[in-house]
Formats: sequence, C-alpha cells, structure tokens
Amino acid sequence: MRFASLGSGSAGNALVVEVNHTRLMLDCGFSVKETTLRLARLNLLPGDLTGIVITHEHDDHAGGAFKFAARYNIPVWLTYGTLKMVGRYMPNQHDLQLNLIDSHHVFTINDIQVQPYPVPHDAREPIQCVFSDGKHTLGVLTDVGRTTPHIEAQLSGCNALMLECNHDASMLQAGPYSWALKKRVGGDLGHLENLESANLLAKLDNSKLQHIVAAHLSAKNNTPHLAQSALAKILGCEMDWIGIADQMLGFDWRAINA
Ligand SMILES: [Zn+2]
Ligand SMILES: [Zn+2]
Repeated sequence: MRFASLGSGSAGNALVVEVNHTRLMLDCGFSVKETTLRLARLNLLPGDLTGIVITHEHDDHAGGAFKFAARYNIPVWLTYGTLKMVGRYMPNQHDLQLNLIDSHHVFTINDIQVQPYPVPHDAREPIQCVFSDGKHTLGVLTDVGRTTPHIEAQLSGCNALMLECNHDASMLQAGPYSWALKKRVGGDLGHLENLESANLLAKLDNSKLQHIVAAHLSAKNNTPHLAQSALAKILGCEMDWIGIADQMLGFDWRAINA
C-alpha cells in the first residue's frame, strides 16, 4: 500500500491511496485541469483512478470531484448527508455512478477496504476514513473540531497517519481572521489545532507507525515547524520525521512496508 497527496489545506485537498492496481482518491477540491496536472506529478492519469471517496461537502474537498468524476467516468462514494449538499458542484448533464456510504460500515473497492467514521465538523454528514489492504492501515483525519473516543479507537494501531494540524491556537487568536471566523475554526465543529492533534496522537497505539503526516495546515495561522514540533514531541522523534502535506505540492508517494 502506498499513498500520496495532491495538495492539502483550505484551498483544496486530494489524497491518493494505492493497493496493487486499485487507486482511490479521497476528496477532490481542485479543478479538473489542476487535478490532472497534480496527478501527473505522481505519474498518474485520471483513468488510473478506480474511485473517489468524498468526506464532506466543503468546497476544498468536494468542489472539483463531480466534474472530474463525470469527465473520466469514475464512480463516487459519499454519505447521504453529503450527497444532499453537493448539488451545486454537479455537472448539468451527467451519468455519475454515486454510491452511498453508511458512516459506520466498512466497504470494499477492489483491493482497498475503507472504514469510514463520523467526525464533529460543520458539515451535514462528514466522515473521515481508515484505508486497509487487509494487512496494513492508513488512518486519515482532517476537518474535525474535536476528537472523540470513537476517533481514537479508529486511528489507534495504524501503520500510517495523516492528521490535521490546522492551526496554532495563539496564532489563530492573534491572526487576521474575523472574530466569527476565529470562533468557527477554533470551535467544536471547526478544525483541529496542533496541540489537540498532539494530544490525540498521545492517546493512540503508535507501535506500528511507519509514517505520520501533518495535514490541512492553515497558511495564516500555522507553520510547518509548529505542527512538526507538536507531533514530534509526542513521538520522541526528529522533527523532520513528521511529514507535511503542503497546499501546493502535497507530498510524494509514501509506501507502507510489510
Ligand atoms: Zn477542509
Ligand atoms: Zn471542512
């Protein structure tokens, strides 16, 4: 199993998970053209994708997904609540294959098993996912206001983690956002700050962890350095062992080894 990011942050997200010839894209917040260009950096063509899983309706996750899926005839998986909220992104005439997810039930797409789990975030029916090839697991968590015992149970024991480190709490407070936006981002249904992400990590079984990547960093209210140092402190590792999912560059393929 290997995975790579096309970009991560409030300007657009997309992650690719590959097991053998099965390749799933988690979210697509970029235009069709931009997605194609970013896939090319990973030596992928749109037709190499088996399916697209959408976590929730926010523009940075769902904005480009349906036009891309329609253009290249790729099936999409999403919750009923998300489906109800994405009408504005749908192409006018389409023949999209839409598959509904129960946010607690594992589903399989060819060689990849996807375990969705619900998260507190200001969307209709948001999920995040743990991907598995039957032996190894990649846990993904972004766009979450607070952690829950259920989130901890899902992410414990993973071989790879991509964890939201959206903001530094003091940078957010002192930063340029309006009072209302600060309240939303820092609130129970907003985004995870570095120390909350570190506290979550501290509660997990990390004995099998081969990769950890900090994701969905705010351009205005965080720095890679702050996110890396918060997570490295928990793991007792070098700061540069903590990967960063960059808004422009995402990150290159990371393989989970046997
Ligand atoms: Zn987002
Ligand atoms: Zn969101």
